Amino acid sequence: MRPSVSKAKPQTATGGGLRRISTIPSLSPTSDERVAEILSEPGFGHHFTDHMFRVEWTPHDGWHNARIEPYGPLSLDPATAVLHYAQEIFEGMKAYRHPDGSIWSFRPEANALRMQRSSRRLAFPELPVDDFVQAVDELVRIDQRWVPAGEDENSLYIRPFMFGSGVFLGVRPSPHVTFMVIASPAGSYFKGGIKPITVWLTTEYTRAAHGGMGAAKAGGNYASSLVAQQEAYAHGCDQVVFLDAQELKYVEELGGMNLYFVHADGRLVTPATGTILEGITRASIIELAEKMGLVVEERKFSVDEWRAGVLSGAITEVFACGTAAAITPVGRLVSAAGDVPEPPRTSGEVTMAIRKQLVDMQFGRAEDAFGWLHRII
Ligand SMILES: *Cc1c(COP(=O)(O)O)cnc(C)c1O
Repeated sequence: MRPSVSKAKPQTATGGGLRRISTIPSLSPTSDERVAEILSEPGFGHHFTDHMFRVEWTPHDGWHNARIEPYGPLSLDPATAVLHYAQEIFEGMKAYRHPDGSIWSFRPEANALRMQRSSRRLAFPELPVDDFVQAVDELVRIDQRWVPAGEDENSLYIRPFMFGSGVFLGVRPSPHVTFMVIASPAGSYFKGGIKPITVWLTTEYTRAAHGGMGAAKAGGNYASSLVAQQEAYAHGCDQVVFLDAQELKYVEELGGMNLYFVHADGRLVTPATGTILEGITRASIIELAEKMGLVVEERKFSVDEWRAGVLSGAITEVFACGTAAAITPVGRLVSAAGDVPEPPRTSGEVTMAIRKQLVDMQFGRAEDAFGWLHRII
């Protein structure tokens, strides 16, 4: 089981090839005792590993000065582009430790390709796929102590990101770009067992208009989702559901997760509108579900269809998916126009069967029939 990064594109002109990554090891690495303490209760996004990866880009030099260095604050000029015009994109992925101690990532080239698509939308240079994968691998390798044992679905969350680091108050693509990778141990999303989330339907805010940047993984999309998320909390909900910006009729996705509707007749419907962020989890579920004999439909899906489907019994389960939680069941939809009740078999057999297939593969407990895993160590 030694998969390859077969879809990697050859180096482009802007890619100097990060083959030579210099390393400045941390002089004060976290003690083994402290790492063990953190890994016993990692939470999410609070603790960071001892190192970070950084590479810079300029039109003249392309990508250059790739290095692993001690994790620490950045010093930014107050006129740095990203602080003013939000030219920023990111990725989210995980490293999983298998029972034999080996460490793997899941479809990293898909994250690299998505970051290239995001780059094109936000007028960034593209980082070659091989360089992206190499940067992540090297960081995980040097900080491998921080990858938790795979029990309880603990893993190392990896956050690659790119920002306009030029210093200039002019509105144009930044002439200096920084790409970095940081990592943070992550505990299970579901402490105390998997239970369905309740979701709030916002009709006041949208996350992505046609021609906008909803299909890019850009920090700005999250900035615009925050008030809607606050509204969700105010209504006692865990997450917010966004509708299409044009007709406010079709379901798009949650703030950071894609949606699936399981039908009694074995069909699985997932919204496709051109403005959603297409998750790698979403894409993987399409292939997994088809292999399990389910029929997957990617199409427009209205709130009316959600409501009617649950009320008639045609929809039996609803779930959300993304790297952080893998798959989480969705219960009640709360909306100003009236709630849609929890579907009859929430946390039901289809959701949990797909979840198990995916998670077992990621943690090395099931065969990787698709060649999706990439060995780091
Ligand atoms: C990252 C993200 C997802 C999930 O993508 P995965 O690759 O499955 O983690 C879904 N929606 C939005 C808006 C996202 O930013």
